[in-house]
Amino acid sequence: MARLIIVSNRLPVKLTKTKNGFKYNMSTGGVATGLKSFYKSYDAIWVGWPGQVSNKLSKQHDKITETLREKYNCEPVFLTRTEIQNYYLGYSNKSIWPLCHYFTQYVTCNDKYWKYYQKVNQKFANKISQMVEEDDIVWVHDYHLMLLPRMLRKQFPNLRIGYFHHIPFPSYEIFRLLPSRKKILNGLLGSDLIGFHTYDYLRHFQSSVQRLLGCQSNLGKIDVDDRIVKVDSFPMGIDFEKFSAAAEKTKVKKNIKTLRNKIKAQKVILSMDRLDYTKGIVQRLQAYEQFLKENPKIRGSVKFIVVTVPSREEVDQYFQLKKTIERLVSRINGEYGVLGWMPIWYLHKSFDFENLVALYNVSDIYVVTPLRDGMNLMAKEYLASRNDNAGLLILSEMAGAAKELGETIVVNPNDVNQIVKALKEAIFLPTEKIIERNTIMSNRLARYNVKRWAEDFFQKLMKMKEIQQQKHANILNQNRQQKILNDFNKAINRLLLIDYDDTLFPYNEDHSKLKPSPEIKNILRKLSRYKKTKVVLLSELKWQKMQEWFRDVEIDMVAEQGAYVKHNGEWEKFDVFENEWKDDLKPIFQLYVDRTPGSRMSEKDYSLIWDYEKAAFDLGGMRSRE
Ligand code: UDP
Repeated sequence: MARLIIVSNRLPVKLTKTKNGFKYNMSTGGVATGLKSFYKSYDAIWVGWPGQVSNKLSKQHDKITETLREKYNCEPVFLTRTEIQNYYLGYSNKSIWPLCHYFTQYVTCNDKYWKYYQKVNQKFANKISQMVEEDDIVWVHDYHLMLLPRMLRKQFPNLRIGYFHHIPFPSYEIFRLLPSRKKILNGLLGSDLIGFHTYDYLRHFQSSVQRLLGCQSNLGKIDVDDRIVKVDSFPMGIDFEKFSAAAEKTKVKKNIKTLRNKIKAQKVILSMDRLDYTKGIVQRLQAYEQFLKENPKIRGSVKFIVVTVPSREEVDQYFQLKKTIERLVSRINGEYGVLGWMPIWYLHKSFDFENLVALYNVSDIYVVTPLRDGMNLMAKEYLASRNDNAGLLILSEMAGAAKELGETIVVNPNDVNQIVKALKEAIFLPTEKIIERNTIMSNRLARYNVKRWAEDFFQKLMKMKEIQQQKHANILNQNRQQKILNDFNKAINRLLLIDYDDTLFPYNEDHSKLKPSPEIKNILRKLSRYKKTKVVLLSELKWQKMQEWFRDVEIDMVAEQGAYVKHNGEWEKFDVFENEWKDDLKPIFQLYVDRTPGSRMSEKDYSLIWDYEKAAFDLGGMRSRE
């Protein structure tokens, strides 16, 4: 029976050291929740890093593996400190993360990071190959493991492999900066299905694949060797029910009450994210400062709760950002605070589910203004947690979530003035209006929840085998081969017209590389020796070249697209063609060569060719239509 193998950098089980060994906590993250219904039917196994560096654990590997395997259906990949430093903090979070979020100034690429990224991806591949069977389904998650699909494909050509990219995929102009860009794309293309949160990310990916690898795509299908790779967008949802039911829980109710008593402000504005330079926290604080400056009457009646959740503190930019935020918060509090009122409550810590939902519920406005964000689940969680539908979300247009939450106030996170305006609008917006807008969004979030997201992806992945088989059938349909063979045997006279360029040999600008191999020549000879069989070789090559290369093969040939024909050993020129028209057309062709970098013109006796194979794909196509 086919099994489902989920792979991600981190396992959904958190391992914490205690006096007597280890404590295991299963986190109910989105992906796990979404796939719950598949767990039983597919005997799901999760492969990933258990979250503690293995240097300290080596003696306990077996015990941990056994517990994870038996109690949690998890298979650990142990990583050393050096691997974490270079593969995770290095390549994943100092090269790929800033690149995909358009922070090119933070991108650090070095050979060591890259070497370890490959090494750890291989480590994952080795682990999976020990347990996987050809019939299984593997679903790989996120940017830490982009080489893994290809590594698995090499070993298991028929395995169903899906990959989901949880962060933005940048435009080609940004992606091309990465030294290992082609290897990364090739790694991903080992999958059958590649999913993104939004159509924009998908377009960027397709364009990078076209421009860097020359693979064409049509309607979300990319031709890679003899396989089809499907790309599609699946906006990740949340566990809507869990969040909407939470506000009724006794513990959450108690937390809400305690918080309300402590805050005592008329309006509460919340800012809460992982401390990350992509989240636009500094710009948000600057906007709040300007908001206080421009609206002195509002001071004293609002409270800005700023929560930054600790993250990747070993990476320098994160550490620096923390310092900047702390300075800014203390400046605003110092400048605008009065005895008995502080404009900002600043907390640098993470919250458990009950406290998180309580915080969502006491906040009248939630400002989520990332400069780039693959999706931003917290924006969705905020709306889902508010059963009263009365919390107003101010959302960045740069977050993937903005595509689905257009009814709320959407801002450009770089435009501080716009955020200030949005804050003012939010404070005075009548509650009925907020409820009206939120109801539409909540209903949508309830429908396309994380379960639907996972099912959608999974169903599409399951269909890929059929699609691959169809594609394969077109190339290698046994019945068709047999029919051709039967027809050939039955025929009284046979004419075999065989195209040379790009059919028998791959086309190349440098024609010398088109030279036929002895094997090809032998096949042509063999075919021509059949009784009552004429073999004609067709090419756009000059007749002299064809003569030089095939003089020792007794076949007929057609050169220069029909202008010259070799019949019974003699070359003959077809005078029916004229070539005066060429002088009129040449300047036009030349103009298009100049306007389309990478394209070229070549001239034969009776033809002019404008070839844009090496030009940017979209541009070439557009010019050809002109
Ligand atoms: N989260 C949490 N405790 C916190 C802050 C955040 O459990 O104190 C969770 C939150 O519920 C959400 C996730 O962390 O599910 C953050 O996901 P999001 O897509 O918003 O941002 P990311 O951190 O992945 O960039």
